[in-house]
Amino acid sequence: MTLALPFDNSYARLPDRFHVRQNPVPVADPGLIAVNDALARDLGLDPDALRTPEAIAALAGNTVPGGAQPLAQAYAGHQFGGWVPQLGDGRAILLGEVVAPDGRRFDIQLKGAGRTPFSRSGDGRAWIGPVIREYILSEAMAALGVPTTRALAAVTTGEPVLRDSALPGAVLTRVAASHIRVGTFQYFAAREDAEALDILTRHVIQRHYPDVEGPLGLLDEVTARQARLIARWMSLGFIHGVMNTDNMAVSGETIDYGPCAFMDAYHPRKVFSSIDQFGRYAYGNQPRIAVWNLAQFASCLLPLMGEEATAVEAASDSINRFPAIYEDEWLRLFRAKIGITTAADGDYALIAGLLDIMAEQGADFTRVFRGLGTGLAVAEFADTTLFAEWEQVWRTRIADEHDPQAVMQAANPAYIPRNHRVEEAIRAATSGDHAPFHRLNAVLARPFEDREEDAAYALAPLPEEEVRRTFC
Ligand code: AMP
Ligand code: MG
Ligand code: MG
Repeated sequence: MTLALPFDNSYARLPDRFHVRQNPVPVADPGLIAVNDALARDLGLDPDALRTPEAIAALAGNTVPGGAQPLAQAYAGHQFGGWVPQLGDGRAILLGEVVAPDGRRFDIQLKGAGRTPFSRSGDGRAWIGPVIREYILSEAMAALGVPTTRALAAVTTGEPVLRDSALPGAVLTRVAASHIRVGTFQYFAAREDAEALDILTRHVIQRHYPDVEGPLGLLDEVTARQARLIARWMSLGFIHGVMNTDNMAVSGETIDYGPCAFMDAYHPRKVFSSIDQFGRYAYGNQPRIAVWNLAQFASCLLPLMGEEATAVEAASDSINRFPAIYEDEWLRLFRAKIGITTAADGDYALIAGLLDIMAEQGADFTRVFRGLGTGLAVAEFADTTLFAEWEQVWRTRIADEHDPQAVMQAANPAYIPRNHRVEEAIRAATSGDHAPFHRLNAVLARPFEDREEDAAYALAPLPEEEVRRTFC
C-alpha cells in the first residue's frame, strides 16, 4: 500500500505554463531521518503512518502518493541583483496540497527529489547537510513564532551526492502555505504574459489574502507582511543569507533556508553565507533588500493596475509604507526585548544605544537580551562600564512597566539554533548518527523556557567552536 494523503491540488489546476509535470526521481535506498509528529498532526496526518516503509519510499520520491500531481514550478528571479529569466524548481517537486483540519491549505514539497527541466547544470539533489540545516532552522523559527515554511520529514537516499566530496544524499519534505515567490510573478512579467499574471494574482489573493482587493491590495498586504517578517528576523539575529527575489514568498513566510544563520556575537554587518561575497545580504541590509525585492514585485503588478502613471504612483506609495510598518514592528519587538510594552520618545535611542555597545564589544545577541531579565547580561561584556551606564538609564525607564521580567522572558529565547550546534548535528548525521539532530530539535522546540539539562545549548560557542561561514 502506498502513502495516501488527502490532496487537493489548486496549483496543478493552473494553466500549463505555470509548471511542468514531473515525478520525483527514485533513489537507491530510502532511510528515515525524522518525522515531525506535531506538524503531521496539525496537518491531520497520522505520524506513525509516515514512518512505514511505504511512506518512507514516498518521502524519498520512489513512489507517488495517491492523489498527488507532482510538478516543478516555473519561476524567475534576481540572484544577488542579477536578472535570471528562468529558474524554477530545479531540485524540488511539489507533490500537491493538503487542506488541514483547521481549513488551512499547505503545499507538500520534496526538496532534493532529482532533476527537473529547470535543473540547468544541477543534479537535482541535496546532501544531508542542507536538509538537516533547513529542518532545524525552519522548525526553530516556527517555535519562535516566526512565519515560516516547515519540515514534515527528512529521509536519506542511500546515494552519494557530489559536492566538493561525495556526501550522503537526503530529501526534505517541506510544508508551506505556498511556494509562490516574487520570482513567480517575475517569470510571467518578463514574458509580458498579462493573462498569467492576472490568474496568478487571483490565485494568490484567494489562497492567502481573501479579504484583499485587486493587485494594489495584494501589494499593500505583501509589503506589510514582509515588513513585519523582516522585523521578526532582526529581533532574533537571523540572517537569511540569500534574499534573492525567488527566495521571497508572497505568503509572508520565511522560505529557502540555504546558507542562513543566527548570529552569536552581534554586528549589523554580519554575513555567514559562503556565496555572499560583498555582504549584499548582511544582517543590517535585510530591510533594504526586502524593499528592493518588493519594488520588483510591484513592477510585475503594474500591467494589472490600469493607466501607467497612476499605477506607478499607487505602487510607489504602497512600497513607501514599508519603512513605517517595519520600524513600528521593530520598535514593538525590541521594546519587548528590554521589557517595555508602553511607548516613550527615547525608546529607539535606548535600544540603539544597547545595540551599539554590543556591536562594539561583539557581545552575544541572544545571551545579552535573555540576560537582561535575569541580571546576567553584564557578563556578556568585556568592558562593563558602558553597559552599566546604559543599564542605569534602562532601569529608570522600566520602573513603571507592569511586569518587565515576564515580557522579556517571553520575547527573548534562551535557545536558538546556534551555528556550532547545527554543524555538530550535520557532522554526526553525515556519518549516520542522527542523535545530535534529534536532541537539538527537542531543545529548540521550547525556546523560551530555561531547562537545566539543556543549559549547554544556551551557551555561545567557544572561540574554537565558532562557525563563521555557512554553505548550501
Ligand atoms: P536556491 O539557491 O536554493 O534559491 O536555488 C536557486 C535556483 O537553483 C533554483 O532554481 C533551484 O531549483 C536551483 N538549484 C539549486 N540547487 C540545485 C541543484 N542541486 N540541482 C538543480 N537545481 C538546483
Ligand atoms: Mg506545464
Ligand atoms: Mg530558492
